[in-house]
Amino acid sequence: MATFEDLKRIDKLSWYVVQHYQHLLKPDELAALRGFHIQLKSTEVESLAHKGLLKRWAPETPESRAKMENGMAFLYDAIRDRVLQDHGTEVIINRCPHCNALTRTPRARQCPECFERW
Ligand SMILES: [Zn+2]
Repeated sequence: MATFEDLKRIDKLSWYVVQHYQHLLKPDELAALRGFHIQLKSTEVESLAHKGLLKRWAPETPESRAKMENGMAFLYDAIRDRVLQDHGTEVIINRCPHCNALTRTPRARQCPECFERW
């Protein structure tokens, strides 16, 4: 069962790729991510009816369940690696020219670490 602590363990580049390049994800990767998000939501929600609705909204498949076996951070890293391998030329990894930190978005022009603008 995924917890909010697991969110903190996700690599920054993996998070960035998944957030900004969702259109490059495969259906089973999206289903596995939804499965984790449902687990996170379910820990907040008491109502069984609501949990049932969440499960119906994003049913798990054997493929998506297999992708969830090693945890959320592992899934994010696997998706990052797969997307960069298959779509390396489409993905813009935007880094600060001053400190090399990863920006918040592919088009950001300000660093989240040193606040340099360019
Ligand atoms: Zn910077």
